[in-house]
Amino acid sequence: MTHTKSRLLLLGGTTESLALAEQLAQKPAEHPGLTVITSLAGRTVAHRLPPGEIRVGGFGGAAGLAAYLESAAIDLVVDATHPFAATISRNAALACNSAGVPRLQLLRPAWERVTGDLWHGVPDIDAAAKALPAAGQTVFLAVGRQELARFAGSPGLRLIARMIDPPDDNRADNSGANRCGSFSGFEIILARGPFGEADEEALFKSAHVDMIVSKNSGGDATYAKIAAARRLGIPVLMIDRPAPEPGDNAATVDAALAWISAQLSLATANTAASQPRNLTAR
Ligand code: NAP
Repeated sequence: MTHTKSRLLLLGGTTESLALAEQLAQKPAEHPGLTVITSLAGRTVAHRLPPGEIRVGGFGGAAGLAAYLESAAIDLVVDATHPFAATISRNAALACNSAGVPRLQLLRPAWERVTGDLWHGVPDIDAAAKALPAAGQTVFLAVGRQELARFAGSPGLRLIARMIDPPDDNRADNSGANRCGSFSGFEIILARGPFGEADEEALFKSAHVDMIVSKNSGGDATYAKIAAARRLGIPVLMIDRPAPEPGDNAATVDAALAWISAQLSLATANTAASQPRNLTAR
């Protein structure tokens, strides 16, 4: 059978996007003719790059992404960005709809509350900032550096945040893990996960953490802090996810692989159907 050449744009920045790119690269015979281009926002210094082609940086909104889909001749898009990366997911939905490019959103399942969890659900970051405890308490903010500003100006609270790369103002001085610097009134811990449950427990105990603020990211990679909070009886302000985009979605890398295979088979079948049939010689 003749296989159509296809180009897949994989919107990345997550462990799932890396795993998907790696699985596609490991079994090229299962996806003949497929080129994979992973797109990264470029916010953090990646410590493991995906196989295949890589592009870095924003597209310039939905219109910019639609233009990229055309100029790069993209046939398929898998949006494997983080569940809280709502802007790029919205832009991907808009751009793919306008360009007529099939799109899948790969979204890992959210964490579920289990016995012993002391969760207080809040709808978004702003609601979390309003629900912080009284002065004198220590709060561990498990949110991204861009969201930290929403928690600034909370008088009398000790706010601890952890991030992979040093804040830009300290970048030259604070490279390396487990070194602290200042970031507009926050205590900063520089470290790259994954973190084990015992490590999280030790940190929360030694820092006398009274409350944790976390996004409901789902997945195993950052769950240890939730398990540690449960064991230590620390309440968690759990921020709900933004609503996913309508359209095809998958919860696992395997389901995303199946979607890609189905799309490639469809494209091959459509190409075969549009080829002129051999006429029988008279
Ligand atoms: P966002 O708010 O949804 O996106 C903001 C802008 O960043 C987008 O409009 C786009 O710029 C650019 N962008 C985002 N992801 C991109 C990608 N994969 N490739 C090219 N451009 C991208 O996203 P975010 O929450 O800042 O997250 C940025 C990246 O970090 C995402 O790729 C995400 O998967 C990853 N990440 C996010 C979180 C989180 O909690 N939000 C956690 C872990 C990893 P243009 O409009 O110019 O195209």
